Amino acid sequence: MAKRDYYEVLGVQKNATDEEIKKAYRRLAKQYHPDANPDNKAEAEAKFKEVNEAYETLSDSQKRQMYDQFGPDGPQGFGGGTSYGNGTYTYSTGFDGFSDFGDLGDIFSSFFGGGFAGSQRASRQNGPRKGTDLRYDIEITFEESFLGTEKYVTINRRETCDVCHGEGTKPGTHKETCSVCHGTGQIKQVQTTILGQMQTMRTCNNCHGTGKVIKEPCENCKGKGTIKKQVRVSVKIPAGVDDNQTIILRGEGEPGENGGAKGDLYIVVHVKRHSVYTRKGNNVLCDIPITFTQATLGANLRIPMVDGTEEIYTIPDATQPGSKFVIRNKGFKSLNSTGQGDFIFTVQVQVPKRLTQEQRELLTKLATTMNEQPPVKKRGIFG
Ligand SMILES: [Zn+2]
Ligand SMILES: [Zn+2]
Repeated sequence: MAKRDYYEVLGVQKNATDEEIKKAYRRLAKQYHPDANPDNKAEAEAKFKEVNEAYETLSDSQKRQMYDQFGPDGPQGFGGGTSYGNGTYTYSTGFDGFSDFGDLGDIFSSFFGGGFAGSQRASRQNGPRKGTDLRYDIEITFEESFLGTEKYVTINRRETCDVCHGEGTKPGTHKETCSVCHGTGQIKQVQTTILGQMQTMRTCNNCHGTGKVIKEPCENCKGKGTIKKQVRVSVKIPAGVDDNQTIILRGEGEPGENGGAKGDLYIVVHVKRHSVYTRKGNNVLCDIPITFTQATLGANLRIPMVDGTEEIYTIPDATQPGSKFVIRNKGFKSLNSTGQGDFIFTVQVQVPKRLTQEQRELLTKLATTMNEQPPVKKRGIFG
């Protein structure tokens, strides 16, 4: 966006006196103050900035002279006061001209109050920050999810440098207070305007807002204070953990900064499919093959449980294919309570594929004693 001529912005002549410029500025600042234009805030704010920028240059005889000579972009450009509206403005107590504005004083304080957050934000770079959280995906077997297990995972994470103990400085040396910002991490820019002394707060480039500089960096970590390492972390996986559940290991993430807490390690558990068992809620489901004679006569079945043990379960005679049986409290442990799921099995009646001559004869005899064929229930179209 091409900048408008500063004289034009303030609506004054090129040869305007300082007093005329001041007057014009007061009038326009009042007129375009964003809080005085609630229906049109964005546009007013843009105008307000423009007016401030113009005034900042034209009220300073040296800047004005340069402006007259080189125009708005030269030799290095003007407009050091353009940081309005991005939250970096604050005002100091030396607010002369306050009374001239009457009730606008409150409006100004609320508007510039936004700048306070800016300076807070800058100062937070000095404050403690929690370290980065890490994620690791782990695959376990169905049995492991049933019984619980302990795993060791190898992760890459930043660790506090053990040469400099996180300071980032060569052993024997220490961080020094930044000479540019004197340790505050911020640079104040004080401008004298008609509204009084105004300060812009900027993050110090020299120390990146930390207030400290490293003169002699630690060679091991290159001044970072941390170093990437492979570490082995033990993970206790509780019995009952389900697929895609996450175990959070507090403090096993990366180190924090400025005394901040360590990050956490999120272990995402993936449970492998099992060839026999499936899980539904906290119940274990499986199919148990039985012979047709077991189904017919009843039987004591040996049921293989997930933990490797066996349960003897008696099915009654005339057990129908697809019947389900429940062994209570032999399912998954609940992670949230003391409860436990059930073991539910479905019988699958097997029909023999090969018979000996003797078996065939016996079955044939059997067939003749039964009505040869189970009666087929006919269903009419109305039935
Ligand atoms: Zn180091
Ligand atoms: Zn600094």
